[in-house]
Amino acid sequence: MTELPELVSMKREEMARMKMLRGATKTLLAALNLDSKDEHFRETPDRVAKSYREFCWGCFVNFDVEVRSIMKSQFTFHDDQLMGTKVSVWSLCPHHLLPTHMKVKISYLPDGWILGLSKLHRLANLVASIPSCQETAASIIADLMMKHVKGIQGVMVNVIGFHLCTIMRGVKDSEMAFYNNAIRGKFREEERLVTEALKMIELMEKEQRGV
Ligand SMILES: [Zn+2]
Repeated sequence: MTELPELVSMKREEMARMKMLRGATKTLLAALNLDSKDEHFRETPDRVAKSYREFCWGCFVNFDVEVRSIMKSQFTFHDDQLMGTKVSVWSLCPHHLLPTHMKVKISYLPDGWILGLSKLHRLANLVASIPSCQETAASIIADLMMKHVKGIQGVMVNVIGFHLCTIMRGVKDSEMAFYNNAIRGKFREEERLVTEALKMIELMEKEQRGV
């Protein structure tokens, strides 16, 4: 079966970018004065390229196509219960390209439609796979929810981020965490929604601690 021309060019581009990642790793090893012929470093450029391909996978796909695929499974739901999910994703900070672990809680108020259960995880994971600031990631998730979930009335995206760039370098504080909330729609206007969402988040945290 012959492949579509756009698939062939995507594969070519991906191969070229993998080559760049291998080359960049070789440069890094040289800059650190490490022996790239040593048995432990010999395969490192290839391993590092594959690792970046894996955890920055969003940089290798068409973002809009991925979002559409995530958002297409929506189900009718005729109630206005607040919906909430917690997900855990890894990202890279844009300033140091060091890992960030983000605990993301998404609360939203539907009107007629809700997203499939796994979709919030897929959405957060897609956004996290492109290096960005924690606040930017929260805003992107909130905006995508508002844009694509049919009838949605509001959303609150609460993120707790553990950044290795402050844990293993800089201030070197292993307890340090950053908190932020991106709030859209009715959550901006109705305080009771924020209060209800925060209560739900508290329950999620308690459940996590096994209280
Ligand atoms: Zn950083």
